[in-house]
Amino acid sequence: MTYTCEDCGFLFCRVGAVKECPSCEKPHIRPATEEETGRLEKLLEQGKPTLQIKEEQTL
Ligand SMILES: [Zn+2]
Repeated sequence: MTYTCEDCGFLFCRVGAVKECPSCEKPHIRPATEEETGRLEKLLEQGKPTLQIKEEQTL
């Protein structure tokens, strides 16, 4: 599942529900649109791991 933060625009993948943004910690999270998901996938393909948060990483 890909999410985006409406406050800071942070895009990230996470398994399960998310209550707050891992970047700014505000609770304005919504599921990413298909376009945003595609954008994140492109970034990941380019070897930019910064937007992906793994489930085991506790922030
Ligand atoms: Zn944010």
